[in-house]
Amino acid sequence: MAEKEYDIIIVGGGPGGLTSGLYGARANVRTVLIEKYMPGGQIAKTDEIEDYPGFEMISGPELAMKMTEHAKKFGLEIVSDEVTEVYCEGEDRLAATASGDRYRGKAVILSTGGSPNLLNVPGEKEFSGRGVSYCAICDGNFFKNQIIAVVGGGDAAVEEAMFLTKFGSKVILIHRRDQLRAQKIIQERAFRNPKMEFIWDTVVESINGDTRVTSLTLKHVKTGEKSTVDVGAIFIFIGFVPNSNIVREGVEKDSGGYIITDARMETSVKGIYACGDVRAQLVRQITNAVGDGTTAAMAAEKRIEELKG
Ligand code: NAP
Repeated sequence: MAEKEYDIIIVGGGPGGLTSGLYGARANVRTVLIEKYMPGGQIAKTDEIEDYPGFEMISGPELAMKMTEHAKKFGLEIVSDEVTEVYCEGEDRLAATASGDRYRGKAVILSTGGSPNLLNVPGEKEFSGRGVSYCAICDGNFFKNQIIAVVGGGDAAVEEAMFLTKFGSKVILIHRRDQLRAQKIIQERAFRNPKMEFIWDTVVESINGDTRVTSLTLKHVKTGEKSTVDVGAIFIFIGFVPNSNIVREGVEKDSGGYIITDARMETSVKGIYACGDVRAQLVRQITNAVGDGTTAAMAAEKRIEELKG
């Protein structure tokens, strides 16, 4: 248990946090980034990325590694720990961690992202890790030549479903409406993929199995008709909940729980900034997170300069 002093404390190592770290460290401001898992955030769990400028196609883990190495090269310190609370003491901003260490600085940047939404149906918790998954890149390989179901209709569901066609004998995408929410270019690619099948206007009522998932009970939302489909796995990509509850003083949020910031990425608590997926904004892309991270770090630097007089 120790108290460590920095200028900028970044919570979370996704693209937003790593970019803040790069800008902070490069400006010679004492900057630490605290991440409970591996740096990279959601991109570390994404198969292929083709919408990050400069890279026509790059694997998520590779981009995460490049961003991490880049920031470290300029002196960013990365600590493996979980931040449990962020709070204020006068003009100081502090982060308490699960290990008992405390980080004291003049600015905190929240880059805490979000956690996947659960379907909340019978069998989901019971079979989690035994056929129920929220990460294709982590678990796809376990289901070679099996029938894989994917739930959701957004970019994540469609892209991850296509990634899963590398493993499954077929991939059935189950969506609650008759139209996908995903970007058109992603949809078109999925419709052309011979291993993809679509079940429309349908929700999963339960996930069934013995020791592992063996089938799903489905319900057609328009007719109410129930059916069963045999699958070896179900991957759930139905959006996520922002991790926005660690500030003791409470920051202003929108109805979805996303943190509201001003144009400097500052939250309603002075000296606490937010960037990336945890922040309320129209889209949640890597490019946004990177832009947010830049602004947050530069705004934090200005605050530190002002406080130093
Ligand atoms: P999303 O865009 O919010 O889509 C969530 C999907 O899940 C929607 O199709 C929604 O259905 C469905 N859904 C929500 N709750 C459900 C429930 N209880 N039961 C069944 N279906 C449910 O989330 P996302 O796909 O995770 O994407 C999140 C953000 O990351 C987006 O901004 C996306 O653009 C971005 N992203 C981008 C890329 C990329 O550009 N390559 C890749 C991944 C993610 P409805 O359509 O009926 O609402």
